[in-house]
Amino acid sequence: MIDAKTILNRCDALANQSSTRTGIERVYLSPEHAAVNLQAGHWMQEAGMTTWMDAAGNQRGRLEGATPGLPTLLLGSHLDTVPNAGRFDGILGVMLAIAVVDRLRESDATLPFAIDVLAFGDEEGTRFGTALLGSRAVAGTWDDQWWTLADKSGTTLREAFVEFGLDPAKVGDAAYRSDDVVGYLEAHIEQGPYLEEADLPLAVVSSIAGARRFALTMTGEAGHAGGVPFHRRHDALAGASEVVLAVEQLAREAGAIATVGRLQAFPGGVNVIPGRVEFSLDLRAETDDVRDAVWAQIQDVAAEICTRRGLAFADEQTHGAPAVVAAPHLRDVIRAGITATTGEPDPMVLFSKAGHDAMAVADLTDWAMLFIRNGRGGISHHPDETVTEADVAVALDAFEAAVRAYAATYAA
Ligand SMILES: [Zn+2]
Repeated sequence: MIDAKTILNRCDALANQSSTRTGIERVYLSPEHAAVNLQAGHWMQEAGMTTWMDAAGNQRGRLEGATPGLPTLLLGSHLDTVPNAGRFDGILGVMLAIAVVDRLRESDATLPFAIDVLAFGDEEGTRFGTALLGSRAVAGTWDDQWWTLADKSGTTLREAFVEFGLDPAKVGDAAYRSDDVVGYLEAHIEQGPYLEEADLPLAVVSSIAGARRFALTMTGEAGHAGGVPFHRRHDALAGASEVVLAVEQLAREAGAIATVGRLQAFPGGVNVIPGRVEFSLDLRAETDDVRDAVWAQIQDVAAEICTRRGLAFADEQTHGAPAVVAAPHLRDVIRAGITATTGEPDPMVLFSKAGHDAMAVADLTDWAMLFIRNGRGGISHHPDETVTEADVAVALDAFEAAVRAYAATYAA
């Protein structure tokens, strides 16, 4: 039987499949991708699954239910990484899913649905700049405009498909029909500090925040740093700085998350008053309503700053995605799995600030997620990403209990 130690050993083994010698980097349709598919497929077979690689390069394994051909519960996560990655983001979820199937088969559970384990080939978007390609293919939301996306060496997505042995014309075959699936469950490290701060191993995910990103510009008047007195200045950077602090305060008060990650002053001379500042904003919250209300407040504050300082503020949205909300009945299933394992009657609920495959699968079917504590303040997308064997053990028990809880309610 697969235990937590085995799962951690498997995460270590997959971490060796990297295109870089220092740190882990494993991108979509690369030789390393092929290698981890092969390895994961082998473990799926050991767990009693029939296996195949789908038309988008995702590795899949299937365990039939009580009778062959029943509608299917999907369990999955991703095997690709960001540059200089940790070894658990995505990978742990796939290893847990395989272990759950192994346990169900060993116990001769008769399930009212089949289970497909999905090891997605692209979640991070590291190679082609567009994320969730694997899960979007599965969800049937593949966009043919992506074929001309190119990686940094100029190879297009279409060429990469062919090099990987896939037929671009057949990518639609990777999609399920929504009538054939009964839901999607994903286990994933939290990638944040909340579980660690609460001293808890597991949480139920309520939603995945949809980010809005903006290119912001504050325009004032450039002038001589010595010659222009304060009362005549229209300093774009001083005004933008007020906006930056307001962004932090307003988001904090609303329970949202906001970041100004880039800021540049023009003309950028040490003895020139900044006449223009270009800066970015990334804004996320549990619901779109909360997020959009914070954005409206930010705009109000920016307008007030402009009036007071004689500046002009402009904004352009560069990215927008809606929050996706977990299905209540599958949230209950995850909650039941945690309660059955930890005895905690009211498990912690978190919304995800990071994107996940579930966002794409949400277009196909109902979904829910289990979050697992990762230590060191929840550091992720970093080689220091870590989980404990004890937490993996309770996560495995809870994920299995969740699938069994769903089987019980689905059959009823
Ligand atoms: Zn991930």
